[in-house]
Amino acid sequence: MLRRAALIHYHEIGLKGRNRAAFERRLAANLAAALGGEADGRVRRIASRLLVPVARPGRALEVARRAAAIPGVSYTGAAYLVGRAADEMERAALEAIAEAAPGASSFAMDARRSSTDYPESSMDMNVRIGRAVQQATGLRVDLQQPDVTVHVEVVQGDAYVYAGKVSGVGGLPVGTSGKVVALISAGIDSPVAAWRLMKRGAVVVGVHFSGVPHTDDLSERFAREIGGALERYGGLGRLYFVAFGDLQREISLQAPPDLRVLLYRRLMIRVAEALAEREGALALVTGESLGQVASQTLENIAAVDASAARPVLRPLIGMDKLEIIGDARAIGTYELSIQPHADCCTLFMPRTPATRARVEDLDAAEDALDTGRMVADALASVRHEDYACPAYRPPRRRRPGRSGPEQAGPDVEEV
Ligand code: ATP
Ligand code: MG
Repeated sequence: MLRRAALIHYHEIGLKGRNRAAFERRLAANLAAALGGEADGRVRRIASRLLVPVARPGRALEVARRAAAIPGVSYTGAAYLVGRAADEMERAALEAIAEAAPGASSFAMDARRSSTDYPESSMDMNVRIGRAVQQATGLRVDLQQPDVTVHVEVVQGDAYVYAGKVSGVGGLPVGTSGKVVALISAGIDSPVAAWRLMKRGAVVVGVHFSGVPHTDDLSERFAREIGGALERYGGLGRLYFVAFGDLQREISLQAPPDLRVLLYRRLMIRVAEALAEREGALALVTGESLGQVASQTLENIAAVDASAARPVLRPLIGMDKLEIIGDARAIGTYELSIQPHADCCTLFMPRTPATRARVEDLDAAEDALDTGRMVADALASVRHEDYACPAYRPPRRRRPGRSGPEQAGPDVEEV
């Protein structure tokens, strides 16, 4: 039986020198972690590609598909590893078509050599292998719109043969862009926002606010499931859960009704920032898109930002709801996000929330609240769940007796 591997290609733009080796190593580690027991031994680096030897040859296509979802991957192929013997390449081409495109009626060849010491030219390989495929299968050659393209890459001592490219998610390997704290509700938008940051190489630490104890914990359960769906991209390190209901109640009792929602949001941002401090994260992320709902006006966005010291990144700001839904479906969070649940933001909801709140009014309302103590209360209730993310480094445990930046809360590691 021919040996199999997932052949991984990545974009090389901007990759130079040291930068490149770090990028490749990070991607290799992320792939190894994501593919686990599917890989047979180490991920290898070969001439601008990564090669994941596949433990069970029959699963090569599945492994190539899973690898394509890992940030940093441009495309993958479920490759047959063959030596340079001509007949092995032909046999692999036939097997690859039968596996990846059994219903095809036309095909094209695309052979390339990276090793110039291989005597046969790309053109000659195309003709030779193409003829063998035609004779064995009766498939028609179609160079314009083939049902399947057979790729042959001759690299160093080996040749890799695969049928059809699996297009990858692109972006940068998780762990090459630092760490962010993403506010993840159980709604449609924020999981997509978190994924977009992973795709740009950031390690994401999520924080979810539930209405507990004034609601059930269903939103937490759904957020945890969303975390599970995001886990397969290898970029979610941890998800924090904050029971927010009592704090919302406190705000609702003391602050003007029309400002409540923004005050909740500003408190969420402050709590997220305390967690970012603990985690060493440099930015926050939300799922807002301009004007999508009444609260997502420029005025309100500015009011929320005024409560944050770190930049608040909003990767969905220019996207339409339908585009966001398209992403949510593609990454597998949509079905989880539409499950009915009590959202903590609708708790103690005023009849007419402000759409153009003024920062001065919010500051004044907060003067009546003890926001420092409220953040400490939130941190005291925090629990967390960890996910498989090889680039994630959890915060170090503080030694007993030493106080950290948010000394009022217990260390999260101990909860
Ligand atoms: P989503 O679909 O992400 O819930 P949304 O369209 O419901 O967003 P808002 O309710 O205005 O919009 O929330 C804006 C952003 O604030 C969310 O995208 C998310 O980042 C954050 N957020 C809101 N509620 C929560 C929550 N309960 N827990 C964590 N983050 C939240
Ligand atoms: Mg929501």
